[in-house]
Amino acid sequence: MAQEFASDRYDTMLYRRCGRSGLKLSAISLGAWETYGGYRGEDIARECFFKAFDLGITHFDLANNYGTPPGNAEIVCGKIVKEMPRDELIISSKAGYTMWPGPYGDWGSRKYIIASCDQSLKRMGLEYFDIFYHHRPDPDTPLEESLGALDTLVKQGKAIYAGVSNYGGAHFADAVRVADRKNYAPITIHQPYYNMLGRGVEWDLLPQTERAGTGVIPFCPLASGLLTDKYLNGIPEGSRATDRWGEDWVKNNLSPERLAMLRELNDIAKERGQTLAQMSLAWLLRLPAITSALIGASSAKQIEENVAALKNLEFSEEELAKIDKLTKT
Ligand code: NDP
Repeated sequence: MAQEFASDRYDTMLYRRCGRSGLKLSAISLGAWETYGGYRGEDIARECFFKAFDLGITHFDLANNYGTPPGNAEIVCGKIVKEMPRDELIISSKAGYTMWPGPYGDWGSRKYIIASCDQSLKRMGLEYFDIFYHHRPDPDTPLEESLGALDTLVKQGKAIYAGVSNYGGAHFADAVRVADRKNYAPITIHQPYYNMLGRGVEWDLLPQTERAGTGVIPFCPLASGLLTDKYLNGIPEGSRATDRWGEDWVKNNLSPERLAMLRELNDIAKERGQTLAQMSLAWLLRLPAITSALIGASSAKQIEENVAALKNLEFSEEELAKIDKLTKT
């Protein structure tokens, strides 16, 4: 029997325009990375995708190398997407990191990007991606070539929109000029690392994306779990730390000073009636330049909690000043 989804799924979610394009994304998007087809299997992935869609999340993010082994996330999530209404979804994938051995399985050549997109489509069982990204800048390949490959994918109908990820501000500005000069498919969206613990894009990239009218979808908006309350009192079993990256990941990222800072952020969140995870998402989404926050989740409950962040995206000057004082380095 076909899966039935909540009939009110579009009633409360916010949909935000991706830069100056016609594309709107749900304010929260869900990514597969280490989680689905990685330290969580198909059943949990399905539960999370279905819960997300019931709550109005339409955008699901993948990449060639996600999952364990690399590629497994696309295999697992591809099966799930098949049980969902394709035209109501925005599915993205990427190429840019090491995927297969030899000189053609990495970085940004035309050979790699086009072959990798074909492999990703096959793994997912899809005819096209809504967004296909160049995953990271390649210092040794001309921008014309990497962006030209994205343009080819768009012209072939294998991707609807082109995006870039991890490009610094100056490189991104060059990319926009190249796409414009060569009449390539525009760069509709940029996917950078951005959260309260990593604010470098504020001075480097965001002025450039704003100038170019490009949408922005920050990845790791919860710093992979550090910006939630889960590690404030030790390392719980059944977390990414215990199940995937090892407890040293938390220990290396949570110095006593950092922990004290997170506890203060947690207090501010509580005063706002939010959890730390909710405040961390709201803090990003208070900026009109941010199209969507790209979360990960290992349970449907986390998705429910995170989507509820949208109930309060307003911050007082005082709250913002307190957060700046703690996080602006
Ligand atoms: P987040 O920063 O959102 O961290 C997600 C993790 O935080 C979850 O797996 C969960 O950890 C924990 N978490 C989430 N919500 C809650 C909650 N309410 N309470 C407690 N803990 C919570 O993002 P990710 O690091 O997962 O990255 C998100 C996506 O970004 C990826 O799936 C991928 O699509 C994209 N990405 C892109 C990159 C790029 O180079 N373009 C690089 C990395 C990611 P736990 O599993 O321990 O429960």
